[in-house]
Amino acid sequence: MTVQFSDAQASAQPVVRNRLDAFVASREFDRPTLVVDTALVARQYRALKAGLGRADIHYAVKANPERKVIETLVNLGSHFDAASRGEVELCLSLGADPADISFGNTVKRASDIAFAHAAGITLFAADAEEELEKIAEHAPGAQVYIRLIVEVSQADWPLSRKFGCDRDTALRLLDYAKELGLNPVGFSFHVGSQTRKAEMWGPTLDALALIWHDARDAGHDLSLLNIGGGFPAFYGEAIEAPTAYAAAVMAQVTARFGNVARIMAEPGRGMVAEAGVIVAEVMLVSRKSDRDMHRWVYLDIGRFSGLAETEGEAIRYQFETPRDGEESGPCVMAGPSCDSADVLYEKRPMQLPLTLKAGDRVLIRNTGAYTSAYSSIGFNGFPPLAVVTI
Ligand code: PLP
Repeated sequence: MTVQFSDAQASAQPVVRNRLDAFVASREFDRPTLVVDTALVARQYRALKAGLGRADIHYAVKANPERKVIETLVNLGSHFDAASRGEVELCLSLGADPADISFGNTVKRASDIAFAHAAGITLFAADAEEELEKIAEHAPGAQVYIRLIVEVSQADWPLSRKFGCDRDTALRLLDYAKELGLNPVGFSFHVGSQTRKAEMWGPTLDALALIWHDARDAGHDLSLLNIGGGFPAFYGEAIEAPTAYAAAVMAQVTARFGNVARIMAEPGRGMVAEAGVIVAEVMLVSRKSDRDMHRWVYLDIGRFSGLAETEGEAIRYQFETPRDGEESGPCVMAGPSCDSADVLYEKRPMQLPLTLKAGDRVLIRNTGAYTSAYSSIGFNGFPPLAVVTI
């Protein structure tokens, strides 16, 4: 299968992408390995920053917490969105300024809040009374932002159901935060991960702007709008180049929210996905019966060793094999473990060369985000996804 290039990649300096490919081509890999080129992370940071303008980038560490990735971003002046004590510690250990780290998970352990507070972190997310009480007790006087629920998401990987609160709850939480001695500074939301088009942000921004203005009318002096992540990566369907996409989002934000003092954006996927490629191997090609039209292609990587986002076949990765260009046909793709849930694509089978066989190397493109961090430590004894940074 021929890999197509997004606008972003078409405009990339080929030399930079070639470095990743040259590295992969020159080496043997004895287990599934994610290779990340930090030069591509740096290029993407600059491209997003150019479009986001005055918004601060808080890289969502969860997308890829590899030390070299964080180090690269610290050196570029990025800020960070941490989800746990572990991520806070990681960023601090690599030189991030505590003032540049936000603790963005709305579900935090009390002792982790205390740790972050003692380390100098002053900005926390919440979407419930109990969370505010924990923050007030363990980080007295801290700045808090309230996460709003996004009712309708057009994203490929929506994050709406689990997080955020509605208008009335949000207004009540702003009041309650004040009562508790906290400093409620604004709102956050997440439009949904892999929101492919900038125009898809419109309905969410419209709904949230109403709440923002209601809160202001109620006397809350809001100074912070956190627009979260959602910036897309190229998985085969054309997407806008990162600078144009980010600028289009910012234009929509400015049109609705005016001159908010402080804007934060938290790209994760859009920052690191295209900087990585997974090197995997075919372990078996089989047919269940002579009548079965579908081949099953089993890889040495599956849902439990890095490809968790194939859940619901939501994220459709692009596979490259040494036999691309030969006649291809549909196949079900599965991981190597003994769990029948470890099937990657079945409802919408993938097209792969008919001659594919055990031992063939498979490259899985644009897999720098949400892969290595999802890999279990060794389900069925298979090693976790190795990571190499160049
Ligand atoms: N911010 C928060 C609070 C998140 O939960 C996430 C992802 O789960 C992100 C940012 C990153 O989102 P994305 O990878 O879509 O950019």
